[in-house]
Amino acid sequence: MLRIENVSAQYSTIKGPVAAVRNTSFDILDNEIFGVAGESGCGKSTLLKIMYDLVQFPLTLSGGKVVLESRPEGGGQPLRLESGNIPKAWWKYISYIPQAAMSVLNPVYRVDEQFYEIIKRHHGGAQSKSQMREQLSEYLTELTLPVDILDSYPHQLSGGMRQRVVIAMATFMKPSMILADEPTTALDVVVQRNILMMLMELQQKMGNTFVIVSHDMGVHYQITKRLGIMYAGTMVELGPTQELFEDPLHPYTQMLIGALPKVGDHRPKEGIPGSPPSLRQPIVGCSFEPRCPKRMEICRRVDPPFVQVRSGRCCACHLVPPQQ
Ligand code: SF4
Repeated sequence: MLRIENVSAQYSTIKGPVAAVRNTSFDILDNEIFGVAGESGCGKSTLLKIMYDLVQFPLTLSGGKVVLESRPEGGGQPLRLESGNIPKAWWKYISYIPQAAMSVLNPVYRVDEQFYEIIKRHHGGAQSKSQMREQLSEYLTELTLPVDILDSYPHQLSGGMRQRVVIAMATFMKPSMILADEPTTALDVVVQRNILMMLMELQQKMGNTFVIVSHDMGVHYQITKRLGIMYAGTMVELGPTQELFEDPLHPYTQMLIGALPKVGDHRPKEGIPGSPPSLRQPIVGCSFEPRCPKRMEICRRVDPPFVQVRSGRCCACHLVPPQQ
């Protein structure tokens, strides 16, 4: 449904360009919850913006493209849009929940006015306020949200409720795909769990696709069905979440999962030594080589390709041979 083909992107800075995403390819499928994980600065939020086609200076796409395909249920004209044209499908086919979504609400408008704006954009102002209000009330009730939040200003709502409002806005037009950037960051664990449950229920009800970016592996374990691990601007491992947690193939994934606290496991936890490489200069060899306890001589010279290594599993490591 969304194909990411050899995508590379960079940020312009006063010290010159900095790579943010490096030659990354993978597919997002229909009706799945797909997670993107990795350390801060690994390019996951930038990748999400590129998938949504929200590419604005200082970010530029330096190679590749994203292809969005959607087939309406019960027939109708199939949709196919590439990078540069995806905004035509915003809200209706694809929507985006940005990072710090709680602060994207306009503080000087009531919640209902902010919903009306979205509806007007798609129906060209053909509906009256009372019709829109009726639709909104039905939708909020469906989501088990109190209808009176429509009359509130954002500052009158709790952080968790503001996040739910943003999720309701992003899903109101029932888009086929929803991209969410760190949807539970800055929320306490109870609210976090409620938000995750809300996202899962929505996905089951609407049968659409969710892409969730989070640095929190616990969030991915609870909610995603497939997971991609990013490192230094590119995907290094991808596979079904459960399999990836039980049998991680890439040394970076192994260390990420090894660092997670587990109930009853009292062994001291080790972090991953060192830090990710600077992306100001082109990287020669494997980007994880300086931190990898399993590095070999070839790793310093040759960048391992991201290839299928078994059914449904892809990895970029010289230690993991491609599927024959
Ligand atoms: Fe480690 Fe080499 Fe694999 Fe890179 S390619 S992750 S350095 S073993």
